[in-house]
Order: sequence, then C-alpha cells, then structure tokens
Amino acid sequence: MKDIICGMEVGENSEFKSSYKGKTYVFCSANCKHNFDKKPENYARS
Ligand SMILES: [Zn+2]
Repeated sequence: MKDIICGMEVGENSEFKSSYKGKTYVFCSANCKHNFDKKPENYARS
C-alpha cells in the first residue's frame, strides 16, 4: 500500500493507519498520519 502523503510504499501491517470514509490508509510515520488526519479531504480521492 502507498502512503499517500509522501508516496512511500508502506506494508499493510504499518502501525500508522487511519480510516476515512470507509477506506483504510497507511502511513510510514506518525507525522504522515498526523498530516492526513488534519485534512483527510485534501488527500483522499475516491
Ligand atoms: Zn510518509
């Protein structure tokens, strides 16, 4: 899976995950997760 914040490939077992509109997103770091959680609508595209 891809970290949509920074574009890095991240394993599905990443400890940094967020759910948004029924989809799960994974992140490489707490920082990327934090950026997503602040403005998920900026990043999530369906
Ligand atoms: Zn990242």
